Amino acid sequence: MATLIGGIEGGGTKFNCVIGHSPDKVLARTSFPTTTPDETLARAIEFFKEGEAEYGALRAIGVASFGPVGLHRQSQYYGYITTAPKPHWAYTDVVGSISRALNVPVAFDTDVNGATLGEGLLGAARGLKNFVYVTIGTGIGAGVVSNSEIVNGAMHPEIGHMLLPRFDEKNDFRGSCPFHGDCLEGLASGPAIEARWGRKGQDLAPDHPAWALQARYLAAMCVNLTLCYAPERIILGGGVMSQKQLFAMVRTEFTQMLNGYTTLPAAADPENYIVPSALDGHSGELGALIAAEKLFKQSDYQ
Ligand code: ADP
Ligand code: ZN
Repeated sequence: MATLIGGIEGGGTKFNCVIGHSPDKVLARTSFPTTTPDETLARAIEFFKEGEAEYGALRAIGVASFGPVGLHRQSQYYGYITTAPKPHWAYTDVVGSISRALNVPVAFDTDVNGATLGEGLLGAARGLKNFVYVTIGTGIGAGVVSNSEIVNGAMHPEIGHMLLPRFDEKNDFRGSCPFHGDCLEGLASGPAIEARWGRKGQDLAPDHPAWALQARYLAAMCVNLTLCYAPERIILGGGVMSQKQLFAMVRTEFTQMLNGYTTLPAAADPENYIVPSALDGHSGELGALIAAEKLFKQSDYQ
């Protein structure tokens, strides 16, 4: 019988769950809003129990979660959402709740690393050893892959909070980051756009001046990523990048800002260098399935 594995992308806004034989053989998926931990995890567990009734026993589950998350296996908070500012979610034992309820091994990583894995194996970075995936949504987060490995220092990097020059003509918007004010996330995340312009990004017209400014900030980010990591591709995803007109604008600004400095070949072809996610919002849950498959292959459960 074919192996059955599960994946969860736990986002601050919604949970996406998926069951399949492998990341490219998905059998069922569901999505629901993130409410309280008890209610949300119970809905995920119910989805997997229904899946087991229909398809057979699950062998492993992968979780790619919003955070901060406990990733150190020695820590008493391994598998937890730890100091999350989201109400009710601080110190939620995600791995423990799921593994106890379903009696399966559970792999655990950040939501951004999950989406990065998904794009690498199945999406816009398929076949590349060096790339960056950035999500521009409620926050800004990035996963860097260098020589086929996710780059982590003593912990995962926090690229979303890099500091950038200010491009505003009027500098009266102070930025929305509670720590830094006008870091990248404070200037260019969905909530930053809403705070600056008084309306959510989805309610601003495609030719609103918000997007020209947004493109400059994202281009500066891409310049910094290019200079720091020399990737072969930069993938931009998340709710804000539903504004598809941004891609051409970011590429133009990027080329101007970089001004021919690096000899990185990929950067000379912006159309193929700064690209959308190829997985239509599914990269996180597919990355979670990839993590589950890896765990299953390593474990004694085969
Ligand atoms: P999350 O980051 O919570 O996982 P998303 O990636 O969907 O979820 O990001 C949500 C943010 O993206 C919100 O701030 C929202 O206003 C913004 N957003 C969603 N859709 C659009 C859109 N079509 N255009 C611009 N901004 C959008
Ligand atoms: Zn910040």
